[in-house]
Amino acid sequence: MEYDSKTCYRAVKSRDPRFDGRFFTAVVSTGIFCRPVCPAITPKQKNCQFFENAAAAMHAGFRPCLRCRPRWPRLERCFDNCQQGSAVD
Ligand SMILES: [Zn+2]
Repeated sequence: MEYDSKTCYRAVKSRDPRFDGRFFTAVVSTGIFCRPVCPAITPKQKNCQFFENAAAAMHAGFRPCLRCRPRWPRLERCFDNCQQGSAVD
């Protein structure tokens, strides 16, 4: 991970576009992860975990946010499969 959590949280709070794609914010209380530029309300820092990429966040059990749609090009296919899978249960 290139940035510490303080730097990440500051970027999320200001929705700094320079950090878009550099890391993803997972919110423990909701089980969802977002891009730093997500228009949703910034969660409390104690509820945030930061991941280097979308794959890492997904492996940790988080789901991509429907508002900012965090995507990782190589995982496009995986996301589609995951979404189909979650529609069943
Ligand atoms: Zn989001």
